[in-house]
Amino acid sequence: MLKMSQQLKKLISSPKKIVITTHRSPDGDAMGSSLGLFHLLKQLGHTVSVITPNEYASFLHWMPGNKEVIIYEGNEKSADTITAEADLIFLLDFSDLRRISPFTDTVSKSKATKIMIDHHQDPDRDIAELIFSDTTACSTAQLVYEVMDAMEMTTYLNKEIAECLYVGIMTDTGSFKYASTTAKTHHIIAELITAGAENTKIHDLIYDNSSANRIKLLGYCLNEKLKLYPENNAAIISLTDEELKRFEFKKGDTEGIVNYALAIKGIKFAVFIAEKDGMVKLSLRSKGDFKVNEIANKYFSGGGHMNASGGISGVSVDETIKKLEQIINDYKNELNNQN
Ligand code: 5GP
Ligand code: MN
Repeated sequence: MLKMSQQLKKLISSPKKIVITTHRSPDGDAMGSSLGLFHLLKQLGHTVSVITPNEYASFLHWMPGNKEVIIYEGNEKSADTITAEADLIFLLDFSDLRRISPFTDTVSKSKATKIMIDHHQDPDRDIAELIFSDTTACSTAQLVYEVMDAMEMTTYLNKEIAECLYVGIMTDTGSFKYASTTAKTHHIIAELITAGAENTKIHDLIYDNSSANRIKLLGYCLNEKLKLYPENNAAIISLTDEELKRFEFKKGDTEGIVNYALAIKGIKFAVFIAEKDGMVKLSLRSKGDFKVNEIANKYFSGGGHMNASGGISGVSVDETIKKLEQIINDYKNELNNQN
């Protein structure tokens, strides 16, 4: 980390044109780490653009710097020009260029020096010159802080950076409860609060700021759409496109629903399935050592972390449920034996 951070420090020692990008349907960590780094690099005198592949949840729109974010879908021409002219491209919270579709080609064609900061498994080492990868880190936002610290740049920490990084760490740790939350995480959080991050305000803006429809959709999922497989410690919740329309679905409305299935006593493996943009998308979660990233990778062209992964299914919602029921059955020994 130290040697690489010195290389990075050198790269950013003179004004550069910089693009920061992150994965499709960016979550709190993707936006928090990107905007946190954005505010640091702006202070250092760089020309910086955050470009996301597509839109993201409205509960992230209050974040400082949000107005300057360029969404690739719908702004392809200007985003392509900015990227073609960039000296540096930061790849945050992903490690496989397919995850930034439809921005993938533009980034892979660019001659800019690429810097990856990420905590996902098995990073593709061919896509960046400098790779800050730590799969044990709770969040990319924490890694951004650690890289800042290693470059001796925490003096630049201000309220904007602190609030953005706080969002990233808070959302990717399930509000500091997942196993990836360490003493170091709490030390960093303390620094962020000292630098001006208003923790209570941030929790409220992210978690207690839902539309009535979102809460009703959650109720519908729990009351009517929860399938339990208690003998195998598993649960599935699914939603079709028609059901999402019925509740006037907005991006982000289904985030976190899968965790309710995992909150049921005994459940070790929970899946949320939703039909979105003509695709069937899955969110997989587990407790203990049941590796959902292996399931996501093997059956659903996806990946992620051991306890939180995602993927897509090429078949209908009903057929995806059937496929999952088969998988649950095939893995029944692991689901019954694991800690
Ligand atoms: P979520 O269920 O919240 O969409 O994603 C959970 C985790 O899985 C995140 O760390 C995310 O980066 C990863 N993930 C989600 N979808 C995909 C996917 O399609 N491919 C890969 N490789 N990872 C994914
Ligand atoms: Mn993350």
